[in-house]
Amino acid sequence: MRIGVIAIQGNVEEHIESLKSALKQANLEAHILKIKHKGLVPSCDALIIPGGESTTLGRFMEREGITSEIRNAARSGVAIMGTCAGLVLLAKHGDEQVEKTNQALLGLMDIKVNRNAFGRQKESFESMISFVGFKEPFKALFIRAPCITDCGKDVEILSTYNGVIVAARQNKLLALAFHPELTDDPRIHHYFLKMIG
Ligand code: GLN
Repeated sequence: MRIGVIAIQGNVEEHIESLKSALKQANLEAHILKIKHKGLVPSCDALIIPGGESTTLGRFMEREGITSEIRNAARSGVAIMGTCAGLVLLAKHGDEQVEKTNQALLGLMDIKVNRNAFGRQKESFESMISFVGFKEPFKALFIRAPCITDCGKDVEILSTYNGVIVAARQNKLLALAFHPELTDDPRIHHYFLKMIG
């Protein structure tokens, strides 16, 4: 199994560490690749798009030719997890800010996002949230986090925070508003491994 982590911005090493713990726990082995340029995505069975700044990240991916590779991968059933800015990029629809700036999205998931849903005064906070299928709550870290404001009928809502959707799945696509790579709890990466199949 080959898992690619888009390594342009954000917590790349942390995602790799979380993946390693989840793999170990599941008694699985995988080759983890950092992806900065085109050419590697087509060989991956799964991809992670970390957080960062979704406009910058989107622009870089486009420039490097990674955007179209990810779209093709998604079409052929490759599992993709997007965290925070990664969630924004997975979306088909954005808020006014996204539409106005004509921000390049991957447009893969039938969700609408609010890019900076939790505002400035609360740029960063943590909360124990429940997550579908988890027995115990998960400590979620929100950093200038987006949220999902609307989703299509094929989208499964996995978690909400104060009534707002913060995690969702559509087939093999997983979108999280928070940062599971910043806690030492590998359950979400483990959940993702199971999605790869
Ligand atoms: N809200 C930010 C954006 O849209 C994402 C923040 C993050 O990834 N920590 O770019």
